[in-house]
Amino acid sequence: MFDIATLLVSLTAVELIMSAVLLLFTATGHKVKGIIELALALFIGSFGSFLAFAAATPPVNRYFLFAASVCFVIGILLTARAMRSLQFMAPRKVMELSCLAIALIFNGWFILGEFYIVGMFVVNSALFAMIGLFSAVDLLSEKRPDLKPGCRILGIMFGLFASFMAFRALARPFIENGTGPHPQVTTIDTMAALVAIATAILWAVGYLWTVYGASEYRLKRANADLERFTGAVAHDLKAPLNSIVGFLGILKQPENGRDPEKTLDYLNSANEAAWRMNEIIDDLLEQATNANEEQVFKSVDTQLCSSNAVKNLDFHFKSTRSKIMADDLPVVWGNKTQLTRLFQNLYDNAIKYQNPNKPPVIIVKAACQDGTASFSVRDNGIGVPDDANETIFDYMQRVDAVKKVTGAGVGLAECRRIVEVHGGTIWVESLSDGGSAFHFTLKLPTQSDGT
Ligand code: ADP
Repeated sequence: MFDIATLLVSLTAVELIMSAVLLLFTATGHKVKGIIELALALFIGSFGSFLAFAAATPPVNRYFLFAASVCFVIGILLTARAMRSLQFMAPRKVMELSCLAIALIFNGWFILGEFYIVGMFVVNSALFAMIGLFSAVDLLSEKRPDLKPGCRILGIMFGLFASFMAFRALARPFIENGTGPHPQVTTIDTMAALVAIATAILWAVGYLWTVYGASEYRLKRANADLERFTGAVAHDLKAPLNSIVGFLGILKQPENGRDPEKTLDYLNSANEAAWRMNEIIDDLLEQATNANEEQVFKSVDTQLCSSNAVKNLDFHFKSTRSKIMADDLPVVWGNKTQLTRLFQNLYDNAIKYQNPNKPPVIIVKAACQDGTASFSVRDNGIGVPDDANETIFDYMQRVDAVKKVTGAGVGLAECRRIVEVHGGTIWVESLSDGGSAFHFTLKLPTQSDGT
């Protein structure tokens, strides 16, 4: 029905165009994870297709054919690498090297030695099926909400590709010789070229769509966060500002024998209100800095995050004679800076909301089960009222009873944001002895994380 030589020329052109489109994206300054690998994969694939086309013109050139078969394997391996990079995962180097070695040895033997083209078709199809299956599993198990929709579609495409290749690898030895440029080339091989054209287009478009969808999602979420945050900040800044204006207004009036202690009181109150504004502004700046933080996840030692958090709060710990016990904390999958901030916010609060009758004691524990690490940060402070257990994790929400303690109501909202970005949950438990226990979960690194 289709002439394989024509299909191979079309494949060369399609892959070259797709590779150029992806490179154009990078030339416009868009730094997207995996785009260079994918552009290179398509370029090498296009070179392979051209060699296959040259080889398909009788008499078949076995060196061109061998080189083409290896180019195709490199192309698919680079595509799989691009997808893993898109998902912030390290390449599977052992698998890559093994596939390349198999392609070189077996295809070399089949094409250069035996000139048994069917053998090469089986080897390549089996390798493509395996690489495609690994990519499909990675993509379909993506959990990040920004990448998930695109990765689902890409995962299905990889799954279909892997199924076709698995079928071809199994069925090919039993299919009779055909009448193509060489008797060993049959309809299913022509179909494979057609599938390759569709795949090259769909993978490149699917990849760009995933990248676009993820940036759109992040932009919408950042806008929504900013809207909520600026609204809350504007509201919260108004209260201390009104106090300052009020106290200064009183002080501006003639003294008329005003008690000097009262004057000092007003000044102190205005000063406190100014410090509160300062704290809110600091939080706003921190929020703005973190909004663009790239979510690069790695294996992170939470013991180190906890010690760094304690170091950052050194003065606070010493001046309040606080004690902390945090041992045997596990390695998790996450972002070190963000996890340090998580511990820091929780320790800071445990000290800030201390019981006036006892020095603060913080006990941190962790248990690992079924790929999840469950942490608890207990304190002996004033505790959180039961009716505030949910609201304290919202932006700018504070418990009325502690309004004397300065704070902006941002720390726990940040803790929740960090834990959720890491795919976990956070909640608080009021302890019977009066303190509170903050519980949160994080993911443990898995083998598929490339660790
Ligand atoms: P901030 O401390 O700046 O007010 P947070 O978001 O860190 O903001 O905390 C929100 C509220 O939760 C606090 O105002 C306080 O009422 C309560 N809270 C947080 N941590 C603790 C704790 N360890 N013990 C008692 N109350 C706490």
